[in-house]
Amino acid sequence: MTVHIVGSINLDIITSLERLPLPGETVLARAAARLPGGKGANQAVAAARMGAQARMIGAVGEGDAGRWMRDRLAAEGIDVSGIAVLEGRETGTAYIAVDARGENQIIVVSGANVLLSGVAPVSDGVLLSQLEVPVPALLPVFAQSKAVRILNTAPAVAGARCLFDHVDILVLNQPELALYTGGAGEGGAGENGTLERARSLLTRPEQAVVVTLGAEGALAVQRDRHVHVPAVPVVPVDTVGAGDCFCGSLAALLDEGYCLTEALPKANAAAALSTLGQGAAPSMPSRAAVEDLLS
Ligand code: ATP
Repeated sequence: MTVHIVGSINLDIITSLERLPLPGETVLARAAARLPGGKGANQAVAAARMGAQARMIGAVGEGDAGRWMRDRLAAEGIDVSGIAVLEGRETGTAYIAVDARGENQIIVVSGANVLLSGVAPVSDGVLLSQLEVPVPALLPVFAQSKAVRILNTAPAVAGARCLFDHVDILVLNQPELALYTGGAGEGGAGENGTLERARSLLTRPEQAVVVTLGAEGALAVQRDRHVHVPAVPVVPVDTVGAGDCFCGSLAALLDEGYCLTEALPKANAAAALSTLGQGAAPSMPSRAAVEDLLS
């Protein structure tokens, strides 16, 4: 079937500097590079490399940046026919400065992403979204789609709770879980606290909440059971995009017919592999690399 990704598409412009500029200061960069970015686009690349037929739904502006992003996604085998080109608008752009110690400063111009609207519901496969596009654009899609609906609540957006009822699998990291459950449960820190907080987000018996735990792996929680998948031990080079890799891979595996419990170890392994390379989209692993790691 198809993984339909409704989400953000950004051009990432990355500059490498000796040190980050102070306010009002100009510094010279050693190098600059453009990379594909945006959580939607990153997750689409992860799903495609996992073997899914991926379809990207989003918005870019007219001009070179939007064309370049569409071409990059198409080169991954992603169906880009659902990407709207908005007249007179800019493509979302992230200006990223990284210093010699790996510290960064990031400025994001949301551009066309925040103007996404009129997305039609989907009727097969898996629907996957994040929160870099407007919640009002996502609500009818989640409410009306006949698909396995996955929402990755990144970045945490206060008005997103209205989506939760229409989601089959919610994927959050620990800061997002804390934000959405602020004070819920008595479990405190540690696995029991995380479990209790995650369970407090379930609104329907068949729903699942997946909490990504960084170097601790991932925890999937349903009303009457839970499973913790420990992380695959690696020495990370750059964890940026690990969450996106996890979500895109999970969507691809569910679309392929794996149940959540079977899909988790593979998504977890894919995300671990993604930490071994620089950048988000470029470091998404192939399906073969994931199978090799688990064999
Ligand atoms: P990011 O914002 O860096 O993309 P995130 O905060 O959304 O990530 P994390 O919980 O940090 O999400 O990581 C997502 C998944 O990536 C984890 O569930 C795990 O599978 C994998 N992962 C992350 N860090 C490590 C690590 N140090 N070792 C092994 N696997 C990791």
